[in-house]
Amino acid sequence: MKKKLLVFLLAIVLLAGFFLVLINKNQAQQSIHYHTGFLIYIDGILQDFSAQKYIEISAYQIEKAHLHDNVGDVVHVHQPGAT
Ligand SMILES: [Zn+2]
Repeated sequence: MKKKLLVFLLAIVLLAGFFLVLINKNQAQQSIHYHTGFLIYIDGILQDFSAQKYIEISAYQIEKAHLHDNVGDVVHVHQPGAT
């Protein structure tokens, strides 16, 4: 009887572990947030993209690479496969 209970409890622990790994994997995929430097020089002069007109983003653009928080030299990516 104790052996069956032990096997049953072990199966529950293994299933719980499996689902926790699965949930963590899905959450990791949903929380993508990459940064990269964004420096553009024209005739040797670093351009400033911190003005609001470069920061404003549409719902379409937020799914791609974009600038925000009036920081013009860091691109943010929040979607897998964004280019
Ligand atoms: Zn960011």
